[in-house]
Order: sequence, then C-alpha cells, then structure tokens
Amino acid sequence: MLEFIIFDLDETLYPRADGLMIEVGRRIQEWLQRRFSLTPEEAVAMRRYHYTHYGTTLSGLIVEHHLAPAEVHDYLRFVHDVRVTEYVSPNPALAAMLDSIPLRKAVYTNATVEYARRVLRALGVADRFERLIGIEEVGLLSKVYREAYERALERLGAPGRACVMVEDTPVNLRSAKSVGMTTVLVGKEPVPEADFVVARVLDVADVVRPLVEK
Ligand SMILES: [Mg+2]
Repeated sequence: MLEFIIFDLDETLYPRADGLMIEVGRRIQEWLQRRFSLTPEEAVAMRRYHYTHYGTTLSGLIVEHHLAPAEVHDYLRFVHDVRVTEYVSPNPALAAMLDSIPLRKAVYTNATVEYARRVLRALGVADRFERLIGIEEVGLLSKVYREAYERALERLGAPGRACVMVEDTPVNLRSAKSVGMTTVLVGKEPVPEADFVVARVLDVADVVRPLVEK
C-alpha cells in the first residue's frame, strides 16, 4: 500500500529553465573560490569533480577536505542565499496536480529545509507538503547514498515500499529504488532506475493515481 509521494525540489517541482539552480551553482563556485583561493575555472572544475563523485559538492568537500561543522553551516547558508522569488512564481497547475494525488506528500532535497520552504512558498505549494527533509536531516549525505534514503524514511516513519520518489536526477533514483521505492523520473529518456518517466512534473499524477487505486 502506498502512503507517501516524495518529491525532489530543484528542477523537479519547477523546470531547469527557471534558472534558480544556475544561481545556486554560481554561488557554490564563489564559495569554493574564496575558501580554496581558486580561479573561477578551477572552482568550476572542483565543483564538477565533487558533484560527479559524491552527488553534491558538499559531500565531496566533507569527505576529501574534512570541512568543520561551522564551515558546512557557512556553505549551506551562503549557497542558498538566493532571492528565489526572482526565479520561480506561484504555479496553480502544480498545486492542482498535487491535490489530485491521494497520498501524503513530502519533499526530500539535497538542499536545506529553510531553502526548500522558501522555494515551495514562491511556487505557492508550501501547504501541500506535510514533511520537508533536507541534507541536514540525513547527516549531510547526498542522495547517491542509500543510507541517506534510509534516514529520510526513518524521518517519515514509512518503509520504502510505501513511497513513490519523484526526481529529475537519475542517479538519485538508483538509491531510492534500492530501498524499495517506486521511482518516477521527470525527464526525457527512460533509465533503468526509473519505473516511470514523465516529461513534466504536471504529468506525475497520471502515472501515480492508477498505482494508488490498485
Ligand atoms: Mg533535482
């Protein structure tokens, strides 16, 4: 029996074209430049390296550079210090789609809950989600780690088989699947990790409703 539908936040609940993640990425590079005295090109390369190997820049920094807790806090605050309303705006169609899915709703993001709350407010859907889980709630592990999903499930108090995970990043669905979740990719190409693929988040209800009614 399905109980929860869990949505990734960035570039899942709003499209990449809105540009919010480009600004967050720019701030990540700015933070790296300052912290490690890098050129812009070196910061781009460092971000790419950590993202590819650890799922988020932060995970890589913790493993390879042993960031102190105060630095982790500074990083998370700095990179998410974006005026989100300049990038995303209320989306009544998204709200209606969410309302049409008869499951409890949560957001699980590699970003912080504070930032997630601001983005959800800007989209006009904050009140649709009863639980928000961020990187600080799962021990700063990125979603490429199965353990991160295990911790998220603990927070929800639900087993993986009772959850649908909706994501735009295929690698994040691999670990979701490994804990038993049903997986939905918002994207173009079918991938082995995704049970379903939809082109737009607005199409998620069409594939999930039949599963609930089963
Ligand atoms: Mg995403």
